[in-house]
Amino acid sequence: MAPKHCGLCQDARAILKRPKTGQQICKDCFFYVFEEEVHNTITEAGLFRPGDRVAIGASGGKDSTVLAYVMKTLNERYNYGLELFLLSIDEGITGYRDDSLKTVKRNQVQYDMPLKILSYEELYGWTMDRIVSSIGKKNNCTFCGVFRRQALDRGACALKVDHIVTGHNADDIAETVLMNIMRGDIARLGRCTSICTQGEDTIRRSKPFKYAYEKEIVMYAYFKKLDYFSTECIYSPDAYRGHARSFLKDLEAARPSAIIDIIHSGEAFEVKEEIKAAQKTQRTCRRCGYMSSNELCKACTLLEGLERRLRETVISSLLDPPAARLADKMLVLISLIVTVLSRESKIICR
Ligand code: SF4
Repeated sequence: MAPKHCGLCQDARAILKRPKTGQQICKDCFFYVFEEEVHNTITEAGLFRPGDRVAIGASGGKDSTVLAYVMKTLNERYNYGLELFLLSIDEGITGYRDDSLKTVKRNQVQYDMPLKILSYEELYGWTMDRIVSSIGKKNNCTFCGVFRRQALDRGACALKVDHIVTGHNADDIAETVLMNIMRGDIARLGRCTSICTQGEDTIRRSKPFKYAYEKEIVMYAYFKKLDYFSTECIYSPDAYRGHARSFLKDLEAARPSAIIDIIHSGEAFEVKEEIKAAQKTQRTCRRCGYMSSNELCKACTLLEGLERRLRETVISSLLDPPAARLADKMLVLISLIVTVLSRESKIICR
């Protein structure tokens, strides 16, 4: 059978089938349409202004690596006039983040972008390794997500950037829509599809890959031979998102447009005015000064829980029979003191 020609240029041999449209196209046309669709997403939403300093949230994974590459390509091709930075957060996950950060450091050289790395250890006095050893693997992603969000804001503030872009793709957003429907979380449902979010006191944050399919991002990285890290986090049993993900994959297998259709459905949900008004009530956290709608911000609420747990461990350890080893008690006590001291002295930005 004669080789099939590209459905776009009608010239080169088609070597792939686009997961998003089913169209059979050549490699160069795939690169071009993928980049043009991201460019359209950026221009239609008016994401940037010339002269903006933009931090790319970089984990070393496929999404953020492709995002950095495409942002650099489009910035040069269309003269966006952006100053681009890589911003990485080190959650303190041995055997995972330490390796993926090596990839980010190579990307820094390959893409010629300044890089800033901030760690949970320096910001919060805790690593994810320590948090998981304290609370187990059940809610670890809740801690990690809250800490990362605030850490990115603090890193962006240190870099003096106007804007953070993240590699969230269409699959991630469709999963979040499904999760919010399953939880009945109408307030989040109304805003989880926003391409750009900004609190009163936070840095503008957007998702240029809002309409880019995960499978196409993987294809782009593969055919461009980009240098990215593909290992899953060792603490990733976010079971609830896992169910939404496999449900979405089933839907996509039956109808590829399901991902975009779910995003469009999410966009159509209107948030009532009174919910919007309630969301706007902002003040500052009494502990760290970060913006918060409660007396304590989410990160400090979680930190206080961790510290309370640590104190209880110390007390019960001290009340234990003499068989308990003194060295263990001293270690926990020192750890508590270090955590409290580092927390008090290392709040940056605010
Ligand atoms: Fe953090 Fe969970 Fe992601 Fe691992 S999977 S990096 S613990 S949010």
